[in-house]
Amino acid sequence: MHHFQPKDGLLYAEDVPVTELVERFGSPLYVYSAATFRRHFQQFDSAFADLDHMVCFSVKANGNVHVLKMLAEQGAGMDIVSGGELHRALAAGVEPKKIVYSGVGKTEAEIRYAVEQDILMFNVESLPELEEIERVAGALGRKAGVSLRINPDVDPKTHPYISTGMKNNKFGLEMGQALEGYRLAQRMEHVEPIGVDCHIGSQLTTIEPFMEALDKVLDFEKNLRAEGIGLRYIDLGGGLGITYNEEAPPHPKEFGAAIVGRLKNEGLKLILEPGRVISGNAGVLLTKVTYVKKTPFKNFIIVDAAMNDLVRPSLYQSYHRITPARQSDRPEIVVDVVGPICESGDFLAKERSLPEVEAGEILAVFSAGAYGFTMSSNYNARLRAAEVIVDGDKTILARRRETYEDLVRGEL
Ligand SMILES: *Cc1c(COP(=O)(O)O)cnc(C)c1O
Repeated sequence: MHHFQPKDGLLYAEDVPVTELVERFGSPLYVYSAATFRRHFQQFDSAFADLDHMVCFSVKANGNVHVLKMLAEQGAGMDIVSGGELHRALAAGVEPKKIVYSGVGKTEAEIRYAVEQDILMFNVESLPELEEIERVAGALGRKAGVSLRINPDVDPKTHPYISTGMKNNKFGLEMGQALEGYRLAQRMEHVEPIGVDCHIGSQLTTIEPFMEALDKVLDFEKNLRAEGIGLRYIDLGGGLGITYNEEAPPHPKEFGAAIVGRLKNEGLKLILEPGRVISGNAGVLLTKVTYVKKTPFKNFIIVDAAMNDLVRPSLYQSYHRITPARQSDRPEIVVDVVGPICESGDFLAKERSLPEVEAGEILAVFSAGAYGFTMSSNYNARLRAAEVIVDGDKTILARRRETYEDLVRGEL
């Protein structure tokens, strides 16, 4: 459920007509619904109410500082994958002890930044990284909390680019190496192994791969305990899918019940790192039709948003529902919705049946709140879109549209 619904034939973001937003803030425009964010976070969080837990929102899904602040006010921690995301989380006022840091390529400078800020833990993805954390924390005279990211070799049955827990993926440590890593960490002076971590992929639409991974991680944790290595945290990553089109992923309540059932008597604090399931359907991308181009072979709706604004269709062949903001009864035609970028891969939808629209009309591209703006770029020297948050009848500009000045600012 989200708060982008039509009233009297016009699409609203909560209490504000989306056409009014484009008049005020221009196009293309990312629009987030505060009520939807809060609702999704609370639903997810409450699914784990029977267990000591912490929900760390995945900043790479939607890193706008206003969004992070809104989630932090709901009690969220953050899962980060770079120094830049740490900066964003801190700027949003997130407590460092609610931050976990994942990623295979943390640099010395990034590790130092995170150690200095005293984050909760690093999710370590290789033995050299573990040694680097020991060295950097040692130089700072500090002790860093770590968990090792296990690669449980489970097929999440999702797009290959967002599968992360199979043995040929770059992520995490295979069980044998992970065991070696914990033994090593146990002997180190400046790291403290406090948790175990896994994240098997994104946009999962069934519970089974999660449970399969959880069982493997729990078995592994028992082996550690038998060796006298006691942990406090189990981090199951993110990955719960959402409905873009006709997918029917489990409800967070169902997902939570399965995990809580399995973890109830383990004495571990659960950490979760959801991104998409919180933010995906809490955002839309609004775009204006520039031209309607009909050829003898194909019909194109050319819009002012492009792959630089929303790359998911180009990158993953993802489906995003698209509707006109004005929803009158019109005949439908089959079209490609494309942007102005000089690439044939620049499309938002292909072979889509849409009502016949006219130049100047606003279209809403749904499910754009996750991996939308965060993956946007300046390709073709296009200005990155503005982001607004609607909360009831109130609207805040969460990020202003870029200017031509912004484009060349760094080019001294
Ligand atoms: C991307 C990512 C997430 C979030 O994934 P979603 O599918 O958006 O829930 C969580 N943890 C890690 C380590 C990630 O890389």
